[in-house]
Amino acid sequence: METHKRKKKRGPISPGDIGMAGLFFTAVFHNLKVRDGKPQAARIRHILDLLTELVGWNSQSFYASSQLRDALSRYQWRGRIMHSPSRGFQGLFTADRDQLSEDDVWEHNVVGELLKLVQYPDVLSRIRRCRNEDCREQFFALRRADQEFHLGRCRQHFYD
Ligand SMILES: [Zn+2]
Repeated sequence: METHKRKKKRGPISPGDIGMAGLFFTAVFHNLKVRDGKPQAARIRHILDLLTELVGWNSQSFYASSQLRDALSRYQWRGRIMHSPSRGFQGLFTADRDQLSEDDVWEHNVVGELLKLVQYPDVLSRIRRCRNEDCREQFFALRRADQEFHLGRCRQHFYD
């Protein structure tokens, strides 16, 4: 007998899923803080600012896309094929670990993930800077699409 209730089959979670993206950006912003002042962190922050300007594709986006072309020109990956008994063959792009520092590898990996996310405007539009002018911290609006402040106290400060 066939049951009419099908077992929920969960496919692979899309990187465009807000929850997944939120996990990714939580890690990215944590690692940016850890690397504060390092050129790798500054470059990632610059790329994040440019990516947010692509949303809506206006005159600003056009300028941002040309700046992105320059910003992205430094990154190089190596194509590799991995095999594991459980997952079979997988094609991967990895940073060249022989020549890069740990921070460089981190930077490459973040940029590689960001490139996968550009096709999801809902994700890009949630990368923003805190509306509190004294803060301007970059954050990912995980809880609400209309979140304008990175912390409650920044919101408080703004309306006081
Ligand atoms: Zn803030």
